[in-house]
Amino acid sequence: MTTKTNTTTAEQHDSMFDAVLARLDVAAKIYGLSDDVANILRNPQKQVKVSIPVMMDNGKIEVFEGFRTIHSTVLGPSKGGIRYAMDVNDDEVKALSAWMTFKCAVANLPYGGAKGGIKCDPRKMSVGELERLTKAYTTAMADVFGPSTDIPAPDMGTSGREMAWLVDAYNKVHRGNFPGVATGKPVGMGGSLGRDAATGRGVMVSTLAALKKMNLDPKKVTCAVQGFGNVGSHAARLLNEQGIMICAIGDHTATIWNEKGIDIKAALEYAKGNTGVLKGFTGGVEIKPSELLTANVDVLVPAALQNVITEEIAHSIKAKLIVEGANGPTTPEADSILQEKGVTVVPDILANGGGVTVSYFEWVQNNYGYYWSEDEVNSKHDACMSNAFEHVWNNGQQYKTTLRIAAYITALKKVEFGIKAKGIY
Ligand code: GLU
Repeated sequence: MTTKTNTTTAEQHDSMFDAVLARLDVAAKIYGLSDDVANILRNPQKQVKVSIPVMMDNGKIEVFEGFRTIHSTVLGPSKGGIRYAMDVNDDEVKALSAWMTFKCAVANLPYGGAKGGIKCDPRKMSVGELERLTKAYTTAMADVFGPSTDIPAPDMGTSGREMAWLVDAYNKVHRGNFPGVATGKPVGMGGSLGRDAATGRGVMVSTLAALKKMNLDPKKVTCAVQGFGNVGSHAARLLNEQGIMICAIGDHTATIWNEKGIDIKAALEYAKGNTGVLKGFTGGVEIKPSELLTANVDVLVPAALQNVITEEIAHSIKAKLIVEGANGPTTPEADSILQEKGVTVVPDILANGGGVTVSYFEWVQNNYGYYWSEDEVNSKHDACMSNAFEHVWNNGQQYKTTLRIAAYITALKKVEFGIKAKGIY
């Protein structure tokens, strides 16, 4: 095998993509993946970077950087969100694209993995500026995106609104009607019922599945949820509906603790009338964001940012179970500490796969032109997530490893099969 990998350069250390490779290496070794297949997966298939001039409201032109990385199309068209944030860069998008390949494979979807992003601060832009930015980015990526090639979705800083704009721009370039070019669209514009809550719902299903394996009664456990956006707010609500007491919630504006349990319905109502944020919510006492992670609870759901569970935080974590609603919330160094401490971690590529699973259902409905009820979507989602959990759990037992490495092994088996079945020329 003579293929060169891109993993030995010094600048890759401490990168997010390094964190992916660190886990890939461990899983590849335990599973016995061939170097040939590992080398293919260590290198994203395609990386596109565009510059996007946008006319701002003040009449000045600002030029934004836009990214799309297609990590793999081995198992089907590449799938993955688009994030708008100031820290978007090549490395982050590359890492997130690889996670999408593994996430889709773990969820058993006929998709590869991709991720995109624009370096911008959406909170500081007007709706008009965001619309022009989204449509200019889509036009620049019009040959990359496609309903049977590469299918975007929302991620941090984007939502159904951006997907509607994206579809509109794509339709105009390609002169047709292609609802399946993106998922996470608004309902009534080709979106699926149940898609908004899907990632949080998947977190709930995997939390219940893990608690069952650990012989813990959901009605007797306490939980802290970091993040109160699209993932965290639905996860907190749905976990609470299952009888789990939510003692801490937090977003970028406030972190709240209540040992008697937070009234999640009240928190949701409050945030709704407060531009979506928790600042000023009085259903508990305010604590520091890091105190949420190390709070005295049974279950911790990091559902906001990456790299929040560091080595230092991991030493102080009291939860027995961590369910990763965010992508990449735990560093590889923290992983080893949590393993030594006996903390069960349901990894991101399993726990937050509910979103892309319902994205797949949305795409299927778009292709059919026939739409399902919310109950139908939810029951198909729950079955899919439970199967994925069981599959990963069994691999964990078989290979005597953590759920994270077991999830990678689950994905590697499927992608390896695809690579071998298709052949290399
Ligand atoms: N951005 C979400 C994720 O990271 C959803 C991706 C999708 O639905 O394609 O899983």
